[in-house]
Amino acid sequence: DLDSTAATLPSVSKSNIECRWSDITSYAAKKKVQSWFQHANGNWELGRIMSTSGTESVISLPDGKVLKVNSESLIPANPDILDGVDDLMQLSYLNEPSVLFNLQYRYNQDMIYTKAGPVLVAINPFKEVSLYGNDYVEAYKNKSIESPHVYAIADTAIREMIRDEVNQSIIISGESGAGKTETAKIAMQYLAALGGGSGIEYEILKTNPILEAFGNAKTLRNDNSSRFGKLIEIHFSETGKISGAKIQTFLVEKSRVVQCAEGERSYHIFYQLCAGAPRALREKLNLKDVDEYKYLKQSNCYSIAGVDDAEQFRIVKEALDVVHVSKEDQENVFAMLAAVLWLGNVSFNVIDNENHVEAVADESLINVAKLIGCDTSELNLALSTRKMRVGNDNIVQKLTLSQAIDTRDALAKSIYACLFEWLVEQINKSLAVGKRRTGRSISILDIYGFESFDRNSFEQFCINYANERLQQHFNRHLFKLEQEEYIQDGIDWAKVDFDDNQDCLNLFEKKPLGLLSLLDEESTFPNGSDFTFANKLKQHLNSNPCFRGEREKAFTVSHFAGEVTYDTTGFLEKNRDLLHLDSIQLLSSCSCHLPQTFASKMFNQSEKPVVGPLHKAGGADSQKLSVATKFKGQLFQLMQRLESTTPHFIRCIKPNNSQSPGSYEQGLVLQQLRCCGVLEVVRISRSGFPTRMSHQKFARRYGFLLLENVASQDPLSVSVAILHQFNILPEMYQVGYTKLFFRTGQIGVLEDTRNHTL
Ligand code: ADP
Ligand code: MG
Repeated sequence: DLDSTAATLPSVSKSNIECRWSDITSYAAKKKVQSWFQHANGNWELGRIMSTSGTESVISLPDGKVLKVNSESLIPANPDILDGVDDLMQLSYLNEPSVLFNLQYRYNQDMIYTKAGPVLVAINPFKEVSLYGNDYVEAYKNKSIESPHVYAIADTAIREMIRDEVNQSIIISGESGAGKTETAKIAMQYLAALGGGSGIEYEILKTNPILEAFGNAKTLRNDNSSRFGKLIEIHFSETGKISGAKIQTFLVEKSRVVQCAEGERSYHIFYQLCAGAPRALREKLNLKDVDEYKYLKQSNCYSIAGVDDAEQFRIVKEALDVVHVSKEDQENVFAMLAAVLWLGNVSFNVIDNENHVEAVADESLINVAKLIGCDTSELNLALSTRKMRVGNDNIVQKLTLSQAIDTRDALAKSIYACLFEWLVEQINKSLAVGKRRTGRSISILDIYGFESFDRNSFEQFCINYANERLQQHFNRHLFKLEQEEYIQDGIDWAKVDFDDNQDCLNLFEKKPLGLLSLLDEESTFPNGSDFTFANKLKQHLNSNPCFRGEREKAFTVSHFAGEVTYDTTGFLEKNRDLLHLDSIQLLSSCSCHLPQTFASKMFNQSEKPVVGPLHKAGGADSQKLSVATKFKGQLFQLMQRLESTTPHFIRCIKPNNSQSPGSYEQGLVLQQLRCCGVLEVVRISRSGFPTRMSHQKFARRYGFLLLENVASQDPLSVSVAILHQFNILPEMYQVGYTKLFFRTGQIGVLEDTRNHTL
């Protein structure tokens, strides 16, 4: 009886899909209908309406409690028959508690994937679920399983790439720890299984352990947190076989190499090397245990529960073999890692009463010099002095303790970042697309989601800017294109407003008065500081509705996902990201191969020759591109690439903050669903006509089902005749100039009949 209630309730119109149902509660009370009741802690619970009088209703909860509540506060629940539907669009009531409950219902049964119209929602199970492997790949390939899955998304991408001859992209987003990287790997596995054969797919899969070793670290949110963004473009031959791949990375977090928070770790590879290097290598690199290196020691965390670093080291070495990094190069890589670790142990002695220093000539200094291939005296000079040009004279300035430490850390960070970049290049050489390239590809984007912490710095600033762009791409794709299509086809469809985030993007990108321009401008001023930067923002941007100046050095941006307050401390320095000329020259004079390569790369990255204007102490040595500008350039390139593809979106959701299985925190999930626009998508898709087919295709596909001949054989007439024969209600479809538009679920009956007839 209850199951049929939804159908008999007054229908919910497009404009008030999320409406309260006070108008129907008396009816509901008669039928003891289920309804959502919100507890003071924000959690929703399903109750039954027992009676209603005036504005009050009596509701009974599952634990037997009976409460008197304001009818207005109750929200309609879906009939049991809709429990756990695999597409949120099928829900009769699309309010937030219903969506939350549906996802939770599925999650409790390890059904971690659910569609939200065109978007796949993936909820991190934090445990192994038996949804993967060959049997499942086969099942999705043969279409013998239909439930939502990453495999299904990957399958659609391959098919659409071949059918439409258009490149595809799978865009994965979500908070840290939500499961993006695992999801990307699952998608890659499916593509490799379907497009395999050449052997290159094996190499592609092996890039994962390498990039994770060098680019992932344990953080408080995720034991295996990616500290970089990644786009992998997998190329296919005409026959649908994988022919190669190309990886692009974004914004590697360098600071982690020299500094990381209590309870977190630096990059996995350091611990793996220390734990797993065979004796000969240990001796050659003078390796010690992890707790002897200051860079690793500071955070008081050396291991990850359930992870064997030594074993991981073997896996990484094997993977390096697979992507053709020679043994010699591998050893060079390990030497660079050891050099970074030893650099952290280099200390300084104050030598005069002006706090000038020189490096202590101990084991660490000697080891660094040996590992990169230079004299200890040269290394000492590069770390403790700076050459300056004053007028026509070269002078040598001694550094103070804090300057020397900064110089040392900057060198360590640069070596690591260059090493990471170099590795990606080597991988790309190995995966390079052969001559038989068709230009068809599927790209998988695994990029950090929106971040809002108690304290937000330059990194969050860049990450959230990127997410603002990606969100616009998502919006444009799903909403604008949809609307445009209706309008183009002459369909009468009330325009649906969606949150456009162009204002916020303008705040970042406008020249000369936008966040990025002002940051760059201040970064080039020798006397610019985080404080002057913050003041400049307040002076120029206060009229922008997305901006608000805060006390001291902070400012707030209204992002699509919420407000974030940024602390400008360190902004300028991180944006300049200077490596002093002395350090670059040191690397270029090294006898080892990798430091030289890194140095020439740094020279090339400079916009102008490095020997540009030498500012006063503390000023820039080279006029290289700022970090924010470089990032913006990468982002624009990325967006351009994505614009030319058919996108498939996967939104990863983290059900709890403790990385534990089985726990589903409603508030946390709801906030993520709101942030990534999932609720919006469902609402809009459902209120429109999401199924479309051209007149031709429709006539071709179902025309043979016609029982009577149609006078005119043009596709439109045939289509209309089909619609009439099958009694499709007029409010369920619209006829456009070129296409037919249907509400959800309308052509199911046509498909069924067709399948039975064929
Ligand atoms: P993100 O890249 O979004 O930060 P990850 O992909 O690294 O998150 O996932 C974090 C952790 O969650 C993984 O290390 C793994 O333990 C778990 N996890 C994520 N997705 C799955 C999945 N599909 N099955 C099992 N565990 C998963
Ligand atoms: Mg990740």
